Amino acid sequence: MNLIKFIEDFPDETACVKKFKEMREQEGITCRKCGGQDHYWQKSILQFQCKRCSTRTTLRSGTILQASKLPYRYWFIAIHLMTSTKKGFSALELQRQIGHKYYEPIWFMMQKLRQTMGARDGNYPINKIVELDEGFFESVDTEKSTDERKSEKRKRGRGSQKQSPVMVMASTVHHFGTVGKRKKPTKFRFVRMVVMKDLKGTTIDNIIDHNVDYDSVIKTDNYSSYTNIKDHVWTHLTEKSQPGDEEKPLPWVHTMISNAKRSLLGVHHMVSKKYIQNYLDEFCYKVNRRYFGEKLFDRLLIACVSPCKINYVNHYR
Ligand SMILES: [Zn+2]
Repeated sequence: MNLIKFIEDFPDETACVKKFKEMREQEGITCRKCGGQDHYWQKSILQFQCKRCSTRTTLRSGTILQASKLPYRYWFIAIHLMTSTKKGFSALELQRQIGHKYYEPIWFMMQKLRQTMGARDGNYPINKIVELDEGFFESVDTEKSTDERKSEKRKRGRGSQKQSPVMVMASTVHHFGTVGKRKKPTKFRFVRMVVMKDLKGTTIDNIIDHNVDYDSVIKTDNYSSYTNIKDHVWTHLTEKSQPGDEEKPLPWVHTMISNAKRSLLGVHHMVSKKYIQNYLDEFCYKVNRRYFGEKLFDRLLIACVSPCKINYVNHYR
């Protein structure tokens, strides 16, 4: 959806409330007291009222807007910008564009949207031919005090910057027909990135169990922590790059790692270690839905309306 259409469709708060209500009705409202599905709409207070037991459900309750005091329109603008811009948007930029006084609620809104994106992607397992590797992403440990960070800076000369290890899984398939002059022998489908608490074999196995279908073929380099992968999937292949090889091993996973790094650095400069998973989720969500076009706005809005239906596959989230 382009900006003109967005402004036409959602010129004011009333238009956004109307759309949000339609989306909720489409997903179905369940009374928390009696489980009833039929409700009256109380327009003046923006609440649904159960036809059976009269329990009221606010328009926001049970959605990711539940704890938010921000106008619906802010959420709509954020969803529009996050789904229509290729590179993404910082909370500071959004705050400036909206003209809101405080940074924190805007930042929090965007984090919630990123979490929703991650949870949606968590519904789909990674499968087929899976290229798997670790990427190391720059992040700041915001849990530490400024003094601690300063003393680390003196010690290591690298500031408080840390490398967060991230497991990157790229689902691919073989090209049909002749390969011709294609640079990569496989076609890219989906990607998932999971922040790792450490680089141990058990951590790797756990992430694979929760994210990759058993029927898959996993391709990795021959790092020693990968020794148990064969127990978790159909086949495990290790690829070594030979001198003079034209094809690089694991091409897609490496493309994704460098694109994600560029995207994070370009928009956010430095992300916190605590929230880096959210930024990676946003990156993957958009890559995985690269052919959705204008539909992406509605898709993310539906995800916001029905977070209870989200099945959290990834237990690291
Ligand atoms: Zn009821």
